[in-house]
Amino acid sequence: MEQVQSVVIGAGVVGLAVARALAQSGREVVVLEAEERFGSATSARNSEVIHAGLYYPPGSARARLCVRGKALLYDFCDTHQVGHRRCGKLIVATAPDELPALHALQAQAAANGVHDLRWLSADDARALEPALACHGALLSPSTGIVDSHGLMLALLGEAEAAGAMLALRSPMLAGRVMADGLVLEVGGDTAATLLAREVINCAGLQAPALARAIDGLDARHVPREHFAKGCYFTLAGRAPFSRLVYPAPGASGHLGVHLTLDLGGQARFGPSFRWVDRIDYTVDPSEADGFYAAVRHYWPALPDGALQPGYAGVRPKISGPGEPAADFRIDGPERHGIARLVNLFGIESPGLTSCLAIAEEVVSRLAP
Ligand SMILES: Cc1cc2nc3c(=O)[nH]c(=O)nc-3n(C[C@H](O)[C@H](O)[C@H](O)COP(=O)(O)OP(=O)(O)OC[C@H]3O[C@@H](n4cnc5c(N)ncnc54)[C@H](O)[C@@H]3O)c2cc1C
Repeated sequence: MEQVQSVVIGAGVVGLAVARALAQSGREVVVLEAEERFGSATSARNSEVIHAGLYYPPGSARARLCVRGKALLYDFCDTHQVGHRRCGKLIVATAPDELPALHALQAQAAANGVHDLRWLSADDARALEPALACHGALLSPSTGIVDSHGLMLALLGEAEAAGAMLALRSPMLAGRVMADGLVLEVGGDTAATLLAREVINCAGLQAPALARAIDGLDARHVPREHFAKGCYFTLAGRAPFSRLVYPAPGASGHLGVHLTLDLGGQARFGPSFRWVDRIDYTVDPSEADGFYAAVRHYWPALPDGALQPGYAGVRPKISGPGEPAADFRIDGPERHGIARLVNLFGIESPGLTSCLAIAEEVVSRLAP
């Protein structure tokens, strides 16, 4: 049986960041990816926003890893020529009764170590973005956008330069805990059985299912997965804003239909939020009605017929309808008792922003 020191399962942005960190720490690394391309799941189906760290409860892993990840990511993009822009974002109150939610957000941001938010009156906000309708806004200057594919290419390049190997069309099917590592059954073109001394499960939407396929891992340590689909609509023509625009967060914890920009300056609106039972990336054109209504709260001049179906992503959730939003879970031996296994569960937003900080944390959970 072939032996490998570290096996990372899943070549999304998190798996690639983890593989890079492990390879740079001197380990022999193989990344198993089920699909024929890396980064084609959630990492290719998101808003590509570098989040500042406003939305997550103080003390949570999401808050800590987002704030640390943002600093690491800007630095990585600067030094590796990954396309990005620190364009800033406005979080807007579109009715007077939304102003308290913005105050609460500012206080939470400060508790998370984000001290650069600025209050804008409606006039100040309109001076920055003349097309905007609002009763007041918070400006987050450290929010930005990133080319997620360029980021993954750069992470993969560095991982490979440090000796890591990516195996495409190589789904992990099952595993078994042994005294000296985990035996992994790998399917695909070159089906094989591997003995891995350490395994990091970065399989995103499939991470809980994959963990359940590991014989020897107590099922109590595997959360139930829930899927929440988000669709985007793109705007035909010129973007009306030069910064990102988000509504005030609602009670649901969902960030609301916001405007993001890509590096080419194209505007898109989304993501919507719908619980689903299965993963399906189609965008139903009839959802546009809800988008027009939501967007016109902050951009009343949105013309009829300007929105076109874009793409969809599915949030890899581990809390279901009506439950409080779960934190990121980076489960190492201290949680499940199995040496050299780390399971990553519930890495939804801000997982893209946090990928380098998550990788740091994974390496710290594994004995050298
Ligand atoms: C609608 C939406 C908007 C978002 N917006 C943002 C944002 O603006 N900013 C931000 O910071 N975050 C955002 N996120 C979150 C971010 O996209 C994710 O946290 C991040 O992409 C997760 O990366 P990942 O590598 O964990 O998962 P994935 O990208 O899903 O990668 C997992 C990989 O594992 C592979 N895999 C699965 N099963 C197996 C198997 N058995 N064997 C081998 N490989 C397997 C899959 O094929 C896939 O390539 C958003 C998410 C969604 C859904």
